[in-house]
Amino acid sequence: MKQKQNQKINCTVTSCKYNDKGFQECTLDQIIVTPIIGCETKQPDESMCSSYKHEN
Ligand code: SF4
Repeated sequence: MKQKQNQKINCTVTSCKYNDKGFQECTLDQIIVTPIIGCETKQPDESMCSSYKHEN
C-alpha cells in the first residue's frame, strides 16, 4: 500500500495530551501502534497507541 501524504490521525482518546478534543484528532505527525502481547482476539483491541501520554 502506498504511503499517504499529509495523513490525518483521527482519535477519540481524550485523556491523551496529544488529542485535540474539539476535532477528535491526534496532533502528532506520526504515532507508533503496537500489538498487545498475548491478546489474539482478531479484534481491534489487539492494537494500541504507544505514543499515548496522559495529560498530567
Ligand atoms: S498519541 Fe495516540 S492516543 Fe494520543 S491522540 Fe495521538 S493517536 Fe490518540
